[in-house]
Amino acid sequence: MKCLFDDEAGESCVHNIFGNCTGFCAREVKGKSVLLIDGDNSGFPNLALMKISTFYKKQGWQVYLNEAHTTVDKIYASCVFTWNKKKTIARLQSIQAMFPDIEIEKGGYAFSPVTLPLEVDTIMPDYSLYDVDYSVGFTSRGCIRACPFCIVSKNEGTIRPVMDIYKFWNPKHKKMVLLDNNLLASPECSNVLQSLIKEKIKVDFNQGLDIRLVNDENAKLLAKVKAEVLRFSLDSPHVEKDFIKGVETLKRNGMAITKLVVYVLIGYNTTFEQDMERFKILTGFGMAAFPMIFRDYEGNYKVRPTGNTDEIIKKCRMPIGMKLKLMKFYGILKEDKNEDIYAVDVKPFF
Ligand code: SF4
Repeated sequence: MKCLFDDEAGESCVHNIFGNCTGFCAREVKGKSVLLIDGDNSGFPNLALMKISTFYKKQGWQVYLNEAHTTVDKIYASCVFTWNKKKTIARLQSIQAMFPDIEIEKGGYAFSPVTLPLEVDTIMPDYSLYDVDYSVGFTSRGCIRACPFCIVSKNEGTIRPVMDIYKFWNPKHKKMVLLDNNLLASPECSNVLQSLIKEKIKVDFNQGLDIRLVNDENAKLLAKVKAEVLRFSLDSPHVEKDFIKGVETLKRNGMAITKLVVYVLIGYNTTFEQDMERFKILTGFGMAAFPMIFRDYEGNYKVRPTGNTDEIIKKCRMPIGMKLKLMKFYGILKEDKNEDIYAVDVKPFF
């Protein structure tokens, strides 16, 4: 763990009076302090909290993440994933009991669609808060579409560029996670892709790219971008034709198909046969499939068809864990009561 005071941690540290450094030492803390609560604790850094951290550090405040061994003057909590909301509320109740006089300010998609004030939103994130070696940010907000299973356009409206990568890129980082919901729909898309190519940044388009918007111009740029994988989705049978057209365009412009990872939404409104059809299309192209099981605010699926996945499981490129998830969802394997088969891995692909 990094020393909060930027001193050399360890035995030689004169402030390290409790033995092993825990990041919280007994040194007198001057000024005020703020406690930031990450309700998701997903292993992926919370962007809003990293920006709030910079904002307060610039004013000389001490910043704590998730726990503070001292009194604090302000508390912010953020929860992005709706399925983590219940457990976050329970956690905040015990934090509130520890700090009864402080009103906890809550944000993040699970609590409210409100974004940060502009002066905080455009600040460089404090990457030291999570000790990550990659930059994270949005160059656009909103989306041109209104997919019924998604809350982006309801919360953020239509697409609009918000900032270029230089606002959140720490030049020491060779990697970046872009969180744009629909980058290819952004009027600034070409500039963003060109900046990534120019700076030789390895990028993960974390929220996926819209295959229906792939054309020769952006496909050429995407083929030049440094990326381990490119995430797309095949969420509904209605987009199968456009999906195939988009993949052909990528191939024609030099994209290696093995680089494509495709999310397949199941459990929303499709039959078993329709789901299998989409897996077969991906198998035909030799692309990796990631089943995404839909769940609503309460954590429930809408439909849960049953059927035999044998053929797909044997032939489809899909991580083993995903295959097991799929078999459990369709009732082929028994579900473990303590297991969350809906859990989504949010770690970046680098
Ligand atoms: S294209 Fe993606 S971000 Fe846009 S509404 Fe559909 S699922 Fe949501």
